[in-house]
Amino acid sequence: MITAVVVGSGPNGLAAALTLAAAGVSVRVLESADELGGGTRSAELTLPGLVHDRCSGFHPLALDSAFAAAVDLRTAGVVWRWPEVQFTHPLDGGRGAALWRSVAQTAAELGRDGPAWRRLFGPLSQRFGAIAEEFLQPVLHLPRHPVALARFGAAAALPAAVLARVWRDAEARGGGGRHEADGVCIGDAGLAAPGSGQAGLLVAEICLGGLGRVSLRAGAAASGWPTWLDVASDQPVLACLGSQYAGWSLAASKEETGGRKFFSLGSGPARALAAKETLYEELAYRDSADSGVLVLEVDREPPRVIIDKLLRDCGLQGPQLTLVVTPTTSLAGTTQVVARVLEVALHKAHELGFPLKDVVSGAASAPLPAPSPDGVQAMGRTNDAILYGGQVQLVVRGDDAAARELARRLPSRNAKEFGQSFAELFVAAGCDFYKIDPALFAPAEVWVSNLDSGSTWHAGAVDMALLHKLWLQQA
Ligand SMILES: Cc1cc2nc3c(=O)[nH]c(=O)nc-3n(C[C@H](O)[C@H](O)[C@H](O)COP(=O)(O)OP(=O)(O)OC[C@H]3O[C@@H](n4cnc5c(N)ncnc54)[C@H](O)[C@@H]3O)c2cc1C
Repeated sequence: MITAVVVGSGPNGLAAALTLAAAGVSVRVLESADELGGGTRSAELTLPGLVHDRCSGFHPLALDSAFAAAVDLRTAGVVWRWPEVQFTHPLDGGRGAALWRSVAQTAAELGRDGPAWRRLFGPLSQRFGAIAEEFLQPVLHLPRHPVALARFGAAAALPAAVLARVWRDAEARGGGGRHEADGVCIGDAGLAAPGSGQAGLLVAEICLGGLGRVSLRAGAAASGWPTWLDVASDQPVLACLGSQYAGWSLAASKEETGGRKFFSLGSGPARALAAKETLYEELAYRDSADSGVLVLEVDREPPRVIIDKLLRDCGLQGPQLTLVVTPTTSLAGTTQVVARVLEVALHKAHELGFPLKDVVSGAASAPLPAPSPDGVQAMGRTNDAILYGGQVQLVVRGDDAAARELARRLPSRNAKEFGQSFAELFVAAGCDFYKIDPALFAPAEVWVSNLDSGSTWHAGAVDMALLHKLWLQQA
């Protein structure tokens, strides 16, 4: 006697029917179309022998699913067919890209983007089973392979969604780049290339390790300043402190460079490969990956001695390392620094001793100034934007007293220097950041919401009048 009826013979219907049948249930499958298969049907639609997918054509998760492993489809006569080329992507001008089953073959045909393709998809394809296992579970579950998944999250979200956009139309976005003889990629966002605001947004997302979103918003009506930058992350500690924070001190003497001495604070996901900073012990985090990206806020390319150090410390070969160089005097540089408004809040929260494990998510905004052609002024404006125009909401867990104390102590108004042009403060401090009250390095206005109690505390306030005075001339 039939005890179950499955309506539809698509992959889900057939899988349900097989599962029921395997459990001893008598099943009938109803299909209204002439053929079985639903979205997986294929047919010779144009030329004899040329099989087209009517619907879905690419099933990367099917073979690695728990269902496929549990059911002996082969004995039942199901044969997986593998096309020689998985798919192609036609481009303008008669060009195109083809995805072969081999990562190496695909990379070989991608020209100068080939090494990057290999860096990204080589490790992912080797661990595909573990990643697929996580994907094919209910959304809310504890990952059995958290490292592989986190790597997939960071690496996939980063180069695929962010770097690929940079490559595809780098020139259109005002970016550029070149390769060192050993394959190290030097991405240019504002050095020889113009470095647009769009390039700055991408650099900011690279800095966040692909774990945060950065966008622009019109704000003239509410604030009198036309363009605001928004940044948000649901993994703010890892995104901001583990990746975006400019904490890796890179210095080379005149003797080492054979010319001018070099100094930069490296930021971005490759920091977690080297884990040179004590912060990583506190975060109990270190990455291991076959590729790395580091962002340098400087007005010239790093000398070879620094590149060699980075390769050594990150354990990478030349083609596995990408360095993005972006001076603050460019639109890209200014944009990516202002995008640190959330990171500045996280850093101060950490300095104040707030437990980082209790920070759940964060969102922040700041007005985007025009970059100044003068380096000190450009740097000053990015700081003004955050210290006097920055607004942040941190969502935390824990007790209310700690959340309230964080809101009270976080805003930049707690510093005695609040209200002065940062460039002037910097010059008065002998160009030494460490002589400026650390309490100043924070957004101006703060909301702290405690998920455990539902309470939100607010403190501080932006000073748009000050920013207008510092940044605006009446036309
Ligand atoms: C254009 C397109 C491209 C896609 N590409 C991909 C891809 O490359 N890779 C991928 O993984 N997924 C892809 N998908 C998604 C994939 O096709 C679906 O997720 C999958 O087919 C869903 O399976 P299903 O069994 O739930 O439904 P379907 O495959 O849609 O099957 C439903 C079946 O039910 C039948 N039916 C409907 N109503 C009745 C009724 N009242 N009585 C009897 N029978 C009925 C239909 O005729 C059909 O055979 C694509 C989808 C589309 C539309």
